[in-house]
Amino acid sequence: MGVLALQGAFVEQERALRRCGVDTRQIRKAEELTGIRALLIPGGESTTIGRLMEDFALTAALTRAIAGGLPVFGTCAGVILLAREIVGSDQLRLGFLDIAVERNAYGRQVDSFEVDLDIPALGPPPFRAVFIRAPKIVAVGPGVEVLAVHEDKPVLVRQGHVWGCAFHPELTSDLRLHRYFLDSIANRQLI
Ligand code: GLN
Repeated sequence: MGVLALQGAFVEQERALRRCGVDTRQIRKAEELTGIRALLIPGGESTTIGRLMEDFALTAALTRAIAGGLPVFGTCAGVILLAREIVGSDQLRLGFLDIAVERNAYGRQVDSFEVDLDIPALGPPPFRAVFIRAPKIVAVGPGVEVLAVHEDKPVLVRQGHVWGCAFHPELTSDLRLHRYFLDSIANRQLI
């Protein structure tokens, strides 16, 4: 599985994926996308990751791969990069998730927080979700499945092979969300 390794929490994501028994490959060049079964876009700073995507000539290759069906999971900054709309910003985004996000919208006092999140698809117990300067998903289109909400706002969404969450699932020892995504790939018909 590929992990976009331009900036942010890619090492932590690799560690979580390896603990799930999955081999990982750091992606910094378009060629490295060849042969991967899925891609993870980690948390970090979405403007920086976007800028580096341009510098590393990755934007077109990523767009092609995801449009071609490559499963992708964006966490935190990753979900911002996958969003169609970023409120008040024209920064680069891939735009595959029909959602609008507002960056850093959980407020300065609660820059970072943790909650016990009920994710029905995972069942009990609740999932300890770590939010770090997280984006708020403020609107979702009709094709988007909402898999978890926090304070009435979606925090985990899926639109077919494109997944996104506002929190950092790699920062706790609970691997259920990574495994759930990986299971969806295992069932995927490769074209
Ligand atoms: N605040 C960051 C951004 O806007 C996202 C934070 C994160 O990924 N933990 O890109």
